[in-house]
Formats: sequence, structure tokens, C-alpha cells
Amino acid sequence: MYQKGRAWIELDMEHLKHNTEQFRRLLPKDCALMPAVKANAYGHGAVPVSRALQEHGVKSFCVASAAEGIELREAGITGEILVLSYSHPEQFRDLLAYDLTQTVVDGNYAEELHRDGRKFTVHVGVDTGMHRLGERWENIEEIVRIFQFSNLKVTGIYSHLCVSDGITQAERAYTLEQIHHFEHVAEELHRRGFHGFKCHLQGSYGILNYSELCFDYARAGIALYGILSGKSDWVNAAVDLKPVLSLKARVESVKMLYQGESAGYGLTYSAGKNRKIGILSIGYADGVPRNLSNCGYVLCKGKAAPIVGRICMDQMMVDFSGIEQVKAGDEAVLIGKSGELEIRAEDMAQWAGTISNEILSRMGERLERIAVN
Ligand SMILES: *Cc1c(COP(=O)(O)O)cnc(C)c1O
Repeated sequence: MYQKGRAWIELDMEHLKHNTEQFRRLLPKDCALMPAVKANAYGHGAVPVSRALQEHGVKSFCVASAAEGIELREAGITGEILVLSYSHPEQFRDLLAYDLTQTVVDGNYAEELHRDGRKFTVHVGVDTGMHRLGERWENIEEIVRIFQFSNLKVTGIYSHLCVSDGITQAERAYTLEQIHHFEHVAEELHRRGFHGFKCHLQGSYGILNYSELCFDYARAGIALYGILSGKSDWVNAAVDLKPVLSLKARVESVKMLYQGESAGYGLTYSAGKNRKIGILSIGYADGVPRNLSNCGYVLCKGKAAPIVGRICMDQMMVDFSGIEQVKAGDEAVLIGKSGELEIRAEDMAQWAGTISNEILSRMGERLERIAVN
């Protein structure tokens, strides 16, 4: 069924299971994982990843949109699915038809949901300092009003940390304040007689740097896929995380580029001496950042081959001069292992001047996703 045709992703499902277990060991006993499988599970493939997680006993998921939730339902995901952002009134029908839990992004939105007349299951977003989505934590009366709307079934409240990856004194202090604000809102709601709702706050870095916290869910994203956002990121918790994704492409053609010749759009690469050039069947439409042009390398037969010339939409070029016997049809590794060498998503992100979350979530639609383990 699957073909390792021109370019593809290999998913190590054993590593996904291993990472899930690492998180379970780290989290308090009563805290359940609510994996973030938004953006096609950070490019890994929302359906295969969520199915594997469901098999490992995961019962709650979070996604970015109603459409992402529908995709999971249609693939047989039965647990709770939380939509983390705004759904337009045109999508309200889908929230009900597919049993999705909607985020209340602020008080006005709660009112709009209530006025619709149908009954929605929601988690109330609380803004504790990121100032993105959620009703401001100080507006406790407004949060209470949200709880009182008769058409809203509030099953949870949550917030999001914005500097939990930071290690400076100021960043830690800010995070502790966010935690404090969130706990204050939960206590205030309890004091006023609201009970039975779940609380959750931490994403990957919140879990890894503040693992002493004890909430009902932990929304692990990037780290569940076995990598960190940045290559030099440091985290508090001792966890062993293994990358789930490898990115590979075929060698389409191998040819000589003679001394003084240039190659690719804009002729940005020139051969200082005779070079053996490989053309790979992957490009920026597949998620290889165009600013890797003349930057970074791929792996082939256990050796590194520098990227040369501009990344094209469907192709890219590498310098195979140091690699013997490479030919059309061979595999090149853009993320993953080859022999003793490894390129991690964090490496590619660093070369491209971004974080691995962006690299992964932009993996292209036309890549085949293949479970290899
Ligand atoms: C994406 C997201 C997460 C997961 O974040 P990671 O840093 O990838 O673990 C958690 N919560 C919210 C609200 C998000 O948007």
C-alpha cells in the first residue's frame, strides 16, 4: 500500500510509545496525557499517531480546529477531543455532530455559544499572562458568568504558559506567576460552588521544567514526538526522549558539475573544482525550508552531503563528491540516521533559523507517512 516513492516520512511507533511512557512516569499519577496532535500531529500524520496513542491508552487529545477533530473522529478516535482555538458559528453544528469539546476563547464567545441555543461541551480558556486566547484571569466575575450560561457544559478550564522554556530568573518568575493566577481562578471557582471541572496548564516545557505541578491533564506536543524546540534547549526533568520522525527522499540523478560551472536557480552555487552533484526528489513544497539553500547537509550511505544551490519546489541538490557508488534510486536522509550519523529536526531548525515545531508542522501533504516499527 505504501510506497517509498519520491519522498516520505518514516514513523518509529516504538519511539512514540517509549516517549508516552516517559511522560507517564514523569507526570503525577492522576494527571492524564492530552497529546497535542494539531497540525497533522506536528507533521507526523494525525491519524496514525492518534491511533497509536489510543492503543497505548490515551483517552484525550487536543487539536487546533474543528476540522482536525473531525478527521480524528472519522478515523475512529473515541476519546475526548479538545479544539484549542476559535470555531466559527458555521462550525457549531460539527462540534455537536462529532462530539468535540470547544475552547471558550473569551466571555463574548461564551455568550455567542450560549445564544445559539444548542448545548455545547466546553473548556474555558483563562489568560494568565500570554495574552493570546482566554478570558483574563483577573475577570473572575466574567469567568463565573461563563460557568453560569445554561447552554454551556463546562468540563474544564485551562491556560497556556509562554516562557516555560526559559531558564532565566525573570522567565521562571513569570511562569510561577502564571501558575499562581491559574490556581487562583480554580480555587475561586471552587469557593463559589463550581466543581467537577478539569484543570490543565502545561505543554511540553511546562511538563519538563515544572514537573512538580499536579493538574488533571498535560498537553504534551513537541516533546512527545521525541524532540525539543531548539538544539540548545535545556530542560529540568531527566527524561529519555527518542525522535519519532525521519524524513527521506530518493536520489533522482547523479551528475558532474565541472570546475567553474554553477547550478540551480539564480546560479547561486559554483563549483570551485569538479563536483559530483546529486539531485534529490524533495523540495520546499515538501517542507524543506528554502533558506537551507547552500546551507546544511543531508546523509547518504553514512556520510554527509552538503546542500548546494537553491532549494526548488520539488527538488534540491547536494554535493556527493565524497561518497562512493551513489546512484539514482538510493535513499537520502534529511532528518534521521544513516550509519553512525544523525540529523535531528533541531539541527535542520537551527540551520533554517527557526524551531523544530515549525519544521515538523510544515511537512508537506504529498509525503507518504510510513510506520516502520
Ligand atoms: C500547541 C499547544 C500545546 C502543545 O505545545 P508543545 O510546546 O508542543 O508541547 C499545548 N497547549 C496549547 C494551548 C497549544 O496551543
